[in-house]
Amino acid sequence: MELNKLTIKQAHQGLIKKEFSSVELTEAVLNQIKRRDKEIHAYLTVTEELALDQAKRIDRKIQNKEEINPLAGIPLAIKDIISVEGVKCTAGSKILENYIAPYDATAIKRLKKAGAVIVGKTNQDEFAMGSSTENSAFGLTKNPHDLERVPGGSSGGSAAAVASDQCLYALGSDTGGSVRQPACFCGVVGFKPTYGRISRYGLIAFASSFDVIGFMTKTAEDAQIVFKVIKGKDEMDSTSVDSKEESKEEKLEVKNLKIGIPKEYFIKGLDPEVEKIVRKTIDQYKEKGAKIVEVSLPHTEYALAVYYIIMPAEASANLARYDSIKYGLSIKENNLLDSYLKTREQGFGDEVRRRIIIGTYVLSAGYYDAYYLKAQKARTLIKEDFNKAFEKADVLMTPTAPTPAFKLGEKTDDPISMYLSDIYTVSANLAGLPAISVPCGKINKLPVGLQIIGRQFDDEKILQIAQILNS
Ligand code: GLN
Repeated sequence: MELNKLTIKQAHQGLIKKEFSSVELTEAVLNQIKRRDKEIHAYLTVTEELALDQAKRIDRKIQNKEEINPLAGIPLAIKDIISVEGVKCTAGSKILENYIAPYDATAIKRLKKAGAVIVGKTNQDEFAMGSSTENSAFGLTKNPHDLERVPGGSSGGSAAAVASDQCLYALGSDTGGSVRQPACFCGVVGFKPTYGRISRYGLIAFASSFDVIGFMTKTAEDAQIVFKVIKGKDEMDSTSVDSKEESKEEKLEVKNLKIGIPKEYFIKGLDPEVEKIVRKTIDQYKEKGAKIVEVSLPHTEYALAVYYIIMPAEASANLARYDSIKYGLSIKENNLLDSYLKTREQGFGDEVRRRIIIGTYVLSAGYYDAYYLKAQKARTLIKEDFNKAFEKADVLMTPTAPTPAFKLGEKTDDPISMYLSDIYTVSANLAGLPAISVPCGKINKLPVGLQIIGRQFDDEKILQIAQILNS
């Protein structure tokens, strides 16, 4: 048995039945990293010592017949934008190349408390800006299904690590699709919760009104297990909210389920093969008794434009903290302004600089009303579209991305075409809704994903609906 290939659920069973130890499981994962990661480059840091320490602790507990959490002793990877105390946290940027996180993110604290085993930090686009992981300052990550293709982004390292069995699950972050799109490209499950259901404390800020921590797993059932551990209100993040326990308890009946298909998502630009697979998958729900209804999200065509105004505005403000004094890279010049300029010039890559420029532009006097304010109004219209659609349907189903994984280098010179790969994912971030990408087929060897979007706080419900696919 290759232990690193197990799901969380299988690994937990094996641990409590003492079929293998957490140290053996962790070593299997570490060996796979040694074997496979030279080629894929999913990891930026491997925390072997920390992992084995955590694994030994859980093995002792099992020996002592203590009860353990379903995540105890199970190895995971963490996107390099989430703080793990004492471990390097670069966010994929030169400006944080030598930054060591001084504290644990709340999600990490909760995972550690549950006994999780952290094997390393994964590659990503710089500050999570990108859709292919090619914007990392530390080299690119390859798609395990085809080494000439991108793993998606920005959490490409996490998705590739799960897909190549270099961990059993991984945390990522999703601001405009960065968990779901790479999960889709790599053929794993990717879950983005309702905004606020997982604390952002310790997640390096990118665009704060969109950012959420999410994760990739091998099955939807595993995603439910992870969510249970890390969700919930946190006094360190005032935007975090408590779980609505009742939605979890509801027993889901497929025959009572109304699935909405937004007509604006099945349009030109969607790969016909992807469309075929996604529609066939939706038919499986129909066969199990669900009702399929067409819904309309009329402002969808503005979603990308709105996102690419508000997101850079927030990013430009958040990234002002990298000033050569407080964190990371510090290039000393004769005066403060020169140090500041030099550090930022050398520390930030092209895409980050592009967004800082766009962000400061749309916020500047004279343009604020025309761009930023207008985009905020359009964001409200997009939210209202969803509210109306959810009067007719319980959940929405769409493709996760318009095409399967594209070739490395294919879109690096064309930012707009890169941005278009988020066309189906950004709306859920604009509206703060929960969404999940589930693998639903392949074109040749390339995975395709189905996206399920739920009402605000219906996280548990979409996690259940995703599980129906394999039942
Ligand atoms: N690809 C999108 C962007 O570049 C989304 C990124 C994300 O979700 N972090 O902004």
